[in-house]
Order: sequence, then structure tokens, then C-alpha cells
Amino acid sequence: MSELKKHRMLIAGQWVEPASATWFESVNPYTAAPWALIPRGNREDVDSAVAAAKSAFYGDAWHKLTATARGALLFKLADLIAADAAKLSEIETTDNGKLIAEMRGQLNYIPQWFRYFGGLADKIEGRVIPIDKPGVFNFTREEPLGVVAAVTPWNSPLLLAAWKLAPALAAGNTVVWKPSEFSSVSALAFGELFERAGFPPGVVNIVTGFGGEVGEPLISHRDVAKVAFTGGDKTGEHVYQLAARGLKHVTLELGGKSANIVFDDAEIDQAVKGVVSGIFAATGQTCIAGSRALIHRPILDRFTDELLALAKTAKMGDPLDMGTQVGPITTRPQYDKVLDYIRIAKAEGAVCRLGGAPAQRPECGSGWFVEPTIFTGVKPEMRIAQEEVFGPVLSIIPFDTEDDAVGIANGTVYGLAAGVWTKSIRRALSMSERLEAGTVWVNTYRAVSYMSPFGGYKRSGIGRESGIDAIREYLQTKSVWIDIAGNAPNPFVMR
Ligand code: NAD
Repeated sequence: MSELKKHRMLIAGQWVEPASATWFESVNPYTAAPWALIPRGNREDVDSAVAAAKSAFYGDAWHKLTATARGALLFKLADLIAADAAKLSEIETTDNGKLIAEMRGQLNYIPQWFRYFGGLADKIEGRVIPIDKPGVFNFTREEPLGVVAAVTPWNSPLLLAAWKLAPALAAGNTVVWKPSEFSSVSALAFGELFERAGFPPGVVNIVTGFGGEVGEPLISHRDVAKVAFTGGDKTGEHVYQLAARGLKHVTLELGGKSANIVFDDAEIDQAVKGVVSGIFAATGQTCIAGSRALIHRPILDRFTDELLALAKTAKMGDPLDMGTQVGPITTRPQYDKVLDYIRIAKAEGAVCRLGGAPAQRPECGSGWFVEPTIFTGVKPEMRIAQEEVFGPVLSIIPFDTEDDAVGIANGTVYGLAAGVWTKSIRRALSMSERLEAGTVWVNTYRAVSYMSPFGGYKRSGIGRESGIDAIREYLQTKSVWIDIAGNAPNPFVMR
């Protein structure tokens, strides 16, 4: 324990110890051994960080910076991230056990969010409104909100932070970021880059720790203007309630139970790969996991056989090995939860056709591995088909008609994403209209970009990240009226 590095948090440009003077262990999911000590932040640290962010928001070093100069800081940050991408991705994989191939891909892509929103920083424009009253000039200003609380999960830690920090900073806000307690090391390493890029102290602050001890006081803090949260829907609901008490602006990116729908006219081998990548890539630990495969009945047997054959070849093992295809589950509680859902599915009568147990392979070491698992005989109302498992567990559900497929796909409380596999353009367009999901992919799956809006319908979230409009989530509009007639109106009537 004494050999582990004791990390510090970033508050007001200083690397500080937690007020509690206590640290907790971050555990490597592949070895199940602790590898770093994370500061256990509390309300006192939150107060200091929010005070620093507030003071930076009003301070000349940030407030008086031109929008172009603000954008330039984001460009500089993007270059620093690109230069450190390999190092940061190794930290992420060590911290959360996700495949290095996936984390490196994300780290190489993250600079684009800072470039895109850096480019938008000086294109935030108000409007002149041809107002319906004589002698008055009316225009709008788009202004930042103030201090943004960013709360992020462990599954794509820096990518999801970038989705918040890039537009928040481009719009001129300041930030207090609480990363997941399971993936704080990469956040702290990322924090060093803000300083090197030249951001004024206090513009970005990082307080590590637990949801109840850091997240709640942060979200509830009276000087926080906006909460940008990614995590589970139950936590999201709680966060929404806390934020509502302070009437704060909110974006919520929550969980999903996405349907990957394969029609009998699809390119079957492409669809098989798409369904496998939808659930087993990232070990199913992705909000957009295509955890329900809806298969058109005429191709059900053939599709299932090909899917089983491909899924069986998945190489498990060390997530730091570029050849590994399925890694460990990130946390012990999550591992237990995945195994619980497997038990529930079996008890409900689903038929386990692959996996369904902890992985006992030598290459899995002492990590928290679950075999890629496929259930058939799943009914849409079963818990395995309704609830987010967040692990490598796929439910195959047959359907007969387009109406059936739409009914099953839309028949959960979630609405994050959906996949459709078909050669028919009519069907592709009709399905993309009828599916209640923030993202619909046709003949592909798991594509995201800094340019395209991302977010959920129903319990999958509120608001959008990425894309040109995401910056609006970090702005508020002011309407300015100027009298240009010079004649005093009647003071007793509204003008
Ligand atoms: P989580 O909800 O447990 O935690 C997310 C964050 O919230 C963490 O930083 C956590 O410490 C914090 N938190 C927990 N309790 C809190 C509280 N009471 N008050 C304030 N903050 C609190 O989620 P997780 O297990 O880290 O991540 C997995 C979940 O995230 C899955 O449900 C997944 O679908 C979802 N997710 C959604 C998206 C998306 O963009 N829609 C992306 C990735 C992950």
C-alpha cells in the first residue's frame, strides 16, 4: 500500500491533498490489485473547487479573454492530448480494464472535440431582431452559464469528460469535474494538460471521490449553474432531483437497452459482425451496448448459429494486449451484478447458448471476467430484456413483422440507440423514424462523432452532447433593448 502513488486533486491551479487527509484505492480490474491511491474528496474540497471556479469565471484572465483566444487554448489542449494519447490510454486501461485498442482509439479521437468546439468558440453569435416596436433596437447575446459541474462514469472516462468540457469551456464557463471513483487516475493526468495549455488557474478543477461525498455537494452547490452528468439512470434521476432544487441547467446522458434489429433482407455476415461488436466490444460496458438482438424469424436459426460461431472466437485476456477482444468487468460490484442478471435470465426461462459464467481461462488471470454470454428464448418482458446489464450479455428475441420489431424495440423505459440491418431503403427510413432512440444506425453500429448530436430519449437522458448545437447547452440568451428614439414613453404603460 505504501508503494502506491498518492494522487492529488486539482483546485485553483494547485495540486492539493484532500481535506479529509484520506485516500482510497483504485483497483486494476485485470489483476484485481490496487494500483493507485485516490484522494477522498468531501464537501470542503467541493466548496474550495467551486469557489475557485467561480472566481475564475469572473476573473479577468478568463472572463476578458477573447473568444478567439479561448478557442486557441482548446486547440493547444487538443495538441497536448494527442501527444499524450498513448500514455493516457494506458492509464485508462489499467484503471478501468477496457481494451487498450478501444481506449487508444478514444484518446486519439478526443482532441477532435476540443478542436471542433475550440473552432466554435468565436462563432457564438447573437441576433438582431427586427422588433415590432418603433424607436427600439433589440438584439441578443449568448452568454456562458457560470460554474459547470461535470460528473462522469468509469466506462469511457476521458471521452465523456471531453463531451462536457469542450463545449463548456468553448462557451466561456468554468468547470468542477468529479470523475468516477473507479477511473480517477486518467482524469488527474488529464488535469495536468490544462495547466500546460495555459488555462488560467481555477478554470478547470478536479475533485475525486464518491458520489455521496463529492457528487451530491457539488450538484447541490448554490454557485453551480449547470450540471452535466453521465451515468446510470437511477443515479441520473437522483442527480436531476438535486439539481431541480437549485433550478440548475441540466444535461443527463444515461443508460440504455438498445435493440440491434436484423431483417431477413440484411447482409447476414455484416449484421452478425454488427451485433457482436454492439455487445461484446467494450465487454458490453457501454451505454450504447446493443444488448437486445431482434432477429427476423425467417433467419433466426441461421443468424443465431453464425452469431454463436463468431462470438465463440472472441479472445479474452489482458486488456493492455492489442489483440484482446473481450476484457474484464471494471468493478467487483459490476461483475457481481452481471452474474446476477445471468442467474435471473436462467431463472426466467431464457436459454443460455454461450457463456453464462465467470471466465476460468488462464489468460484471464485473477481479473473479473465473464464469458461472452448469449441467451435465446428471451421474451421481451423478461428482466434480461428490460434492464441494463452493462456486461457481455446478449438477448436474442425473434420478431415477425416491422410492427413487431418497433413494438419490442420501443418497449423499454430506455431510448438511447438502435441498430437496423436491412438492404431496403424504405425500411431503413421507416424504422429510423419509428424507433424511439436518440441515435439510429443503419447497417452499422457504435459510430459516434464530435459532429453528430448524441443523447437519449425517455430514461436515457435529457439534452444532447456533441454536434454544433451542444454548445447551446452551456449558454443562456440575453435580450437587450435600446431606445433609439429618445422620446420618453408613457411611464404608466408597458412599452
Ligand atoms: P453511476 O451512475 O454509478 O456513476 C456515474 C457518476 O455519478 C460517478 O462519477 C459517480 O461517482 C457519480 N455518482 C454516484 N452517485 C451519485 C450521487 N448520489 N450524486 C452525485 N453523483 C453520484 O454510473 P457508472 O456505473 O459509473 O457508469 C455506468 C452507467 O453510465 C451505465 O448506466 C451507462 O449506461 C451510463 N453511461 C451513459 C452514457 C451516455 O452517454 N448516455 C455513456 C456512458 C455511460
